[in-house]
Amino acid sequence: MSVKVLKFGGSSLADAENFRRVADIVRAEPERRYVVASAPGKRNGTDTKVTDMLYTCYELASEEKDITEIFQCIKDRYNEIIAELGIELDLSEVFEKIRLAFLNHSGRDYVASRGEYLNAMILAKYLDYHFIDARKVIFFAEDGVFDAEKTNNVLRGYLAKYERAVIPGFYGSMPNGTIKTFSRGGSDITGSIVARAASATLYENWTDVSGFLMADPRCIDNPKVIDVITYKELRELSYMGATVLHEDAIFPVRHSKIPINIKNTHKPEDKGTFIVPDTDDIPATVITGIAGKSGFSTITIEKDMMNSELGFGRRVLEAIEENGLSYEHFPSGIDTMSVVMSTKELVKKRGDITAAICKAVNPENIFIEDNLALIAVVGRGMVKAKGTAARVFSALASANVNIRMIDQGSSELNIIVGVDENDYITALAAIYDEFVK
Ligand code: ASP
Repeated sequence: MSVKVLKFGGSSLADAENFRRVADIVRAEPERRYVVASAPGKRNGTDTKVTDMLYTCYELASEEKDITEIFQCIKDRYNEIIAELGIELDLSEVFEKIRLAFLNHSGRDYVASRGEYLNAMILAKYLDYHFIDARKVIFFAEDGVFDAEKTNNVLRGYLAKYERAVIPGFYGSMPNGTIKTFSRGGSDITGSIVARAASATLYENWTDVSGFLMADPRCIDNPKVIDVITYKELRELSYMGATVLHEDAIFPVRHSKIPINIKNTHKPEDKGTFIVPDTDDIPATVITGIAGKSGFSTITIEKDMMNSELGFGRRVLEAIEENGLSYEHFPSGIDTMSVVMSTKELVKKRGDITAAICKAVNPENIFIEDNLALIAVVGRGMVKAKGTAARVFSALASANVNIRMIDQGSSELNIIVGVDENDYITALAAIYDEFVK
């Protein structure tokens, strides 16, 4: 039988009503055999995620402050779900173990991981699926890096034993058995790891939106949903700040070319977004999505004939590296080059970096400009479509937006334009209207 792996985010498992919805979804298809659970998320706008409560509780305990009240709130969240679902499950011993872990200042990752541990136990009981503790099947190496091969071997063995199972997301174990978590939102990665080990035909990532939007809905009214996006395009958009899926969640499934389908728990009939391996088979629109970020600065270096000066670029980049900073982009011309960096980073070393570059390459002019926003226009369809860049630039010109920087990736998968932060939303809207509306 083919296998689908499902991951449900915190908002999909926030209360009993959502648990019922999740169970309906899982039971709707017999291939839906492995389920990865997040910790309970927010039930409404003013609510707190259980993971955040666990971190707060940990901070309080480490300052020797009283945790009774917050710990009770955490227990209540789970007990309410259990009571409303009407299942026979007594977690009091587990709660006591966790309380003692707080009081003994046991690992921060350990206590944070209990959010998914408890939720997965409840879901397994409710679905009547086997519970597999992620501690036993997801591994990190001594240096804290995820151990993909060991995990895949062990997890594969477990999945072969259990036809249907629930696995808590977000954590695994170190070689000495202590718990380690991924970064925030890491249950997406667990889902991907399980999909790979199960040789799944599909990884369904269930959340509270009907897929990836073509642009940020805070800037564009009602943006369209992306039907199909490739792993590479998604990397470009996530790097630029589009969130829905954890950035690292692509790597395990990419290995086996398993597609990911972003689905909405509240609207299971919506097709959502398919994230697929790079392919020529699927017809592409010219652009797949637009994403952007503000908070960048450019260091511009001017020197006549710099293009013929051997090692010029290397020496500039070395000056930045020696100051312990990394750069984002590096557009250059014949007599000028610019280095784009995050303003937050640069601010710490502004003077040092300018001095180091002057010493390294003796420029005629060097200056720093702030308040730059970067916009990435991403699309596999651009490779074949002539005139895309021209359309981006003329859309910006018609909207009266000055372009401060241009960078096109060599893969032709994206065009990045830098604009003044004040023009950011106007620029996004102009590009969206040109290609999508
Ligand atoms: N519960 C964790 C978090 O809030 C992990 C996850 O939900 O994916 O970050």
